Amino acid sequence: METRIRHRLVLIAPPFQGHLTPMLQLATILHSKGFSITIPHDDNFNSPNPSNHPNFSFLPLFYGLSETQISSKNIVDISVTLNAMCVSPLKELLVDQIEKGNMNHEKIACVIYDGLMHSIDSVKAITKTLAVRPSLGVICNTVNCLEEKSLHRLRDLYKVSVFPIGPLHMIAGEDSSSSSFVEEDYSCIGWLNNQATKSVLYVSLGSIASWDEKELTEVAWGLANSKQKFLWVIRPGTINDVSEWLESLAEEVKVAIEERGCIVKWAPQGEVLAHQCVGGFWSHCGWNSTLESLCEGVPIMCQPHFGDQRVNARLLTQAWKVGLEWSNVIERDEVEGAVRRLMVSEEGKEMGQRALKLKNQIKLGVRGGSSYDALNELVNRMLSANL
Ligand code: UDP
Repeated sequence: METRIRHRLVLIAPPFQGHLTPMLQLATILHSKGFSITIPHDDNFNSPNPSNHPNFSFLPLFYGLSETQISSKNIVDISVTLNAMCVSPLKELLVDQIEKGNMNHEKIACVIYDGLMHSIDSVKAITKTLAVRPSLGVICNTVNCLEEKSLHRLRDLYKVSVFPIGPLHMIAGEDSSSSSFVEEDYSCIGWLNNQATKSVLYVSLGSIASWDEKELTEVAWGLANSKQKFLWVIRPGTINDVSEWLESLAEEVKVAIEERGCIVKWAPQGEVLAHQCVGGFWSHCGWNSTLESLCEGVPIMCQPHFGDQRVNARLLTQAWKVGLEWSNVIERDEVEGAVRRLMVSEEGKEMGQRALKLKNQIKLGVRGGSSYDALNELVNRMLSANL
């Protein structure tokens, strides 16, 4: 009897929250389509927790990051090292996987890597005898209805196949386990349950961007003076000692935080944005946060810090008109004004209504829509390339 060959995918993301999370979501989706999954990862820095993903095999890929680089959390410096160091250990890993696969009637159908790991593109041959086939295309964590023109341009300019199969967190849905490096504090959901509908501003700058101590104090004043309810993420490491800093604040700010605020180290962001009491999101506009907010119809007060966050903020404010553009000056009066514009002004309400419309369009694009078609096409292409 002929033995059926199983197909394995190797998925590689750099060890940053905003990159690993969508890659694990993609792995979840592709696993549900019948592929076996291997995730190479750095053992030393931001490793995923294998017990949260029992269906995947995790293999150490040693990048050689120094302790200084790890503690600096300098994303550019770390990315340069990852790219310089990943190619030859990856080849070894692939050889090993191919040998094991041969024994188990399994073959590697594709290597899928995050754009930040661009040097993987230079792996043209795994050994002298084993050449790598040309790329099948680009997988995009987006929905056609959000970026149709850009997706067309990408196809036309680079003559590549593009698979917009997102939002990955939505497609992976319930099947996707937590990949947070910091433990999520669920007590904030209990706090949210006691608030009024759409009354809370969620404040988070994601996993890398941060405010310094002086800015945090201005933010605290601005939030207090805005008289709005707020759920604020202050990540470990942002400030030396959060309780000492809170203690140092003026009495009226402390009272406002106690009466109207909730501060956590890391929130279950998906649940927070889906909560009916959340009416706005003050965000650094990282792509995951942007998509997660759009999918829940929550308008955004945009404060981009670097990289694609600026482009995302522009899309939010100018193209989709669900993002608030403000001075971005972290001073109490500016913060107070912007928060009130988003949460209680007519302008903010209109933004909220547009956000709800967009949420519905995205939903249509997902189940049975363009993302669904693109995912099926991707799966078929990966399988037919390996016949
Ligand atoms: N996140 C979270 N809890 C928090 C803050 C962030 O779970 O308290 C998650 C968020 O849902 C998103 C990711 O961390 O999936 C951040 O990715 P994003 O692309 O928004 O920003 P980055 O961290 O890469 O700058």
